[in-house]
Amino acid sequence: MPKLTSEVSKAVDSLVRGKLVAFPTETVYGLGGDATNEEAVKRIYKVKGRPTDRPLILHVPDLATVKKVVLNWASSESKLASRFWPGPLTLVLKNGGLIAESASAGYETIAVRIPSHPFALSMLESFSKIGSGIVAAPSANRFSFVSTTNAEDVEMSLQNHLDKADMIVSSNSQDECKFGLESTIVDCSNDSPTILRVGVIKKSEIESCLGIQVRISQVEGRRQNSPGSSLIHYSPRTAFRVITNNEIEKNLLDLCEEGKTFLWCFEKPAHTHKNLIAEIAPSCPRKYGRQLYSKLNSLDREQFTMILFEEPPKNEDWNAICDRLEKAKNRFCTKKF
Ligand code: AMP
Ligand code: MG
Repeated sequence: MPKLTSEVSKAVDSLVRGKLVAFPTETVYGLGGDATNEEAVKRIYKVKGRPTDRPLILHVPDLATVKKVVLNWASSESKLASRFWPGPLTLVLKNGGLIAESASAGYETIAVRIPSHPFALSMLESFSKIGSGIVAAPSANRFSFVSTTNAEDVEMSLQNHLDKADMIVSSNSQDECKFGLESTIVDCSNDSPTILRVGVIKKSEIESCLGIQVRISQVEGRRQNSPGSSLIHYSPRTAFRVITNNEIEKNLLDLCEEGKTFLWCFEKPAHTHKNLIAEIAPSCPRKYGRQLYSKLNSLDREQFTMILFEEPPKNEDWNAICDRLEKAKNRFCTKKF
């Protein structure tokens, strides 16, 4: 695959030179920089507009590198790693002190994962041969706005903040973010593993792997447990609401009076309105998750007065999606930023 090879070497070259690379993973696009290079890491925060007290997830190619960046490696993390890596699981562990201080925002813990995406893995493997092999990468979008799952959305979000020497890896089917939602984060830094962020891997899968019940931490506002969790996140700039099927029945026409309205719903609404564009959303959570951010990003560019998403079913398969929608709607206001 010549294209893959040449883009990988270009990306590695940028990382070695302390530049930033927006690269695809199986979850979302990451904005990566060498995690051992303080200047590179500082630029990640700057380009994203992310507060510097919100530490970054480290991406590494293999278990040997994980063991270099953490202080200890015990049975829970070992079980989770063998079952879910490479893949969409992030583990929080004690910081071994190898990375730039700003990557962990000075915390005594770090968050780390081995991604499964062929481009990401290949880039990390090559980078470990000529550099640190440790890439700090939050999602490749401006802080608190919608995550990105393709090169065009990264460009729209970050082009005014990146330098010429930085790189956005192009999208093709090989580079698809196949899950489209962020990793599940499990805190294994103390005796009772806790889920800090719901994600692609379900709570029941974590529990069956560990053979114990795990808690989902009420992370919001509890900075000591999950630095970086915030109430407003994943949010479009356009006014955005999640509405129930019942509300669609009762209030849709009134809402449409306010201006051009988009509705993503699971079945065709009973009413039509001159201001309304309604589309049927995937009923399969995997498909819905894969489309969610690209849908929000493209809708956000279309000058709607309001974006409405029908509330998805409330069961474990939809948990990560409901979490993202819940946070995305918290910015709800008509102001354009
Ligand atoms: P993201 O916003 O996708 O970049 O993910 C950041 C999340 O990773 C945070 O909300 C934390 O839950 C977790 N995280 C990252 N770095 C650390 C760290 N050093 N210690 C604990 N959790 C971390
Ligand atoms: Mg993010």
